[in-house]
Amino acid sequence: MRAATTISLRVLNRSLNRHGNPVRLCQMYRRWSSTSPDTRPSTPLAKTLAQAIDATGPIPVATYMRQCLTAPESGYYTRRIEGADQFGQKGDFVTSPEISQIFGELVGLWMITEWINQGKKSSGVQLMEVGPGRGTLMDDMLRTIRNFRPFSSAIETVYLVEASPSLRGAQQKLLCGDNPMKETEIGHESVSKYSDIRIVWTEDIRLVPRDDSKTPFIVAHEFFDALPIHVFQNVKPSPTKPAEQPKNFSQEEVMASSNMMHKKPRNSNAHEWHELLVAPVPPNSTHASINTPLSLRDHTPVPDFQLILSKGPTPHSMYLPHTSSRYKSLQSIPDSVIEISPESAAYASDFAIRIGGAPASPKSKSSGAPGSPPPDPASTASTKPQPSGAALILDYGPASTIPTNSLRGIRGHKAVSPFALPGAVDVSADVDFTALAESAINASPNVEVHGPVEQWYFLESMGIRERAQMLLKHAEGRNGITEEERKQIQERIDAGWKRLVDRGPSGMGKLYKALAIVPHRPDSAGRRPVGFGGDVQV
Ligand code: SAH
Repeated sequence: MRAATTISLRVLNRSLNRHGNPVRLCQMYRRWSSTSPDTRPSTPLAKTLAQAIDATGPIPVATYMRQCLTAPESGYYTRRIEGADQFGQKGDFVTSPEISQIFGELVGLWMITEWINQGKKSSGVQLMEVGPGRGTLMDDMLRTIRNFRPFSSAIETVYLVEASPSLRGAQQKLLCGDNPMKETEIGHESVSKYSDIRIVWTEDIRLVPRDDSKTPFIVAHEFFDALPIHVFQNVKPSPTKPAEQPKNFSQEEVMASSNMMHKKPRNSNAHEWHELLVAPVPPNSTHASINTPLSLRDHTPVPDFQLILSKGPTPHSMYLPHTSSRYKSLQSIPDSVIEISPESAAYASDFAIRIGGAPASPKSKSSGAPGSPPPDPASTASTKPQPSGAALILDYGPASTIPTNSLRGIRGHKAVSPFALPGAVDVSADVDFTALAESAINASPNVEVHGPVEQWYFLESMGIRERAQMLLKHAEGRNGITEEERKQIQERIDAGWKRLVDRGPSGMGKLYKALAIVPHRPDSAGRRPVGFGGDVQV
């Protein structure tokens, strides 16, 4: 059991962001003056971004987020922090696996139940985690799995997808102990401290070899909220003002937009999606918290950047909002703001293809990415004749609606402007679970998606209450500790599990959701995974 920490501020932050009308960005923000000295650029990354914007024009939120989180050396996850990391009381936020060991144990158990329900493969099993943080979740999973010999001996490799060199180091220490780490063609590798299972690190899931003979069990906990989003607002075009475009698009962006323009002629009377872009706060403005929600301004550091509405279309605004009927239905609501994460869609598609295979016929081939044609619904032919494996995605975000105004910053357990201290503030956004489900289903003909269900439901179905009782009983009978220590351990166990399933506004039970991608097989019709309304089939 790890040390209990204070409330999860990723969660707190989200509820703060919910003030105001959720679909009207502009109403949420107010200008206010400050007498504090201008400290911009506040970080080395802020300087680099300001210079880049000066040269090429305002940048999409996705570009800003990507740089803030994983820019080499200066991103929030990629910079070096001496003697500390982003997690826990001394860091910026706390996550479920860090709150209670039961979380990782139940995720491990979920993988075991899926493995049983899919016929207990005796070889070719892969465990994968994207964004493993300190490695705590995988460590708790491996400790649990080790007790199920037939499953643990079927595991060939554990793959960890991690962008941060320092977190990769922390994961290696926790999962491999003194076993050395060596460099490989695709990243790094070492050996588990629990058994001789190979542990392989890559920086991107595309580097993990895709092999249709394997059975991948994939987990993503608080990973998708860190993937970049594009933000669009629905505006009525002004006939008097000429379209003003940010300068210099990349070759790729220009191609994407020209493809889209061929597909979709623009209707000059309709509302259209304009992209919200990131630009520096003007030098002589009353700068302190432009674009900072009022609820955050008391403790937010001075932002370097602000959101501006692109006056004309951008390559992304002509493409991404047209990739799903869900976005189209909002087009009639003036000023709606939507967030779209193409990178999240690509990850969900990748998971689906690893589990269900890619569509076999070239005619029905789909990458699952936004804009790619859905596969031929009549065809279930796939490159993987025996679909197998599963993916479990746990994160925060709305169950069915499109995320809006959810970009947030967190620093030192406090909600701050996402435009302040770039690279030193954690930036994240709500996960669009329905978009992930759509991407997975469009990418592979042989997967099905379950959920999202709320975290309390998933964990209660998986037996969190019973496991907590066992741990409490174990602490009761533990020798060699004082009564005071016993009391503290029991309080930590009790507070930890309750917080994970707490359905109140500061708990994690309702805000966090679970989504499962599993094989779609003729013999599994009507089956539901455990935690999503199903049982283990023995
Ligand atoms: N799953 C962990 C950590 C969540 S924080 C937990 O719940 O405690 C997000 C994690 O994703 C970190 O490990 C971070 O370094 C990693 N990450 C963020 N963006 C990434 C990207 N684009 N590619 C790979 N890893 C990324």
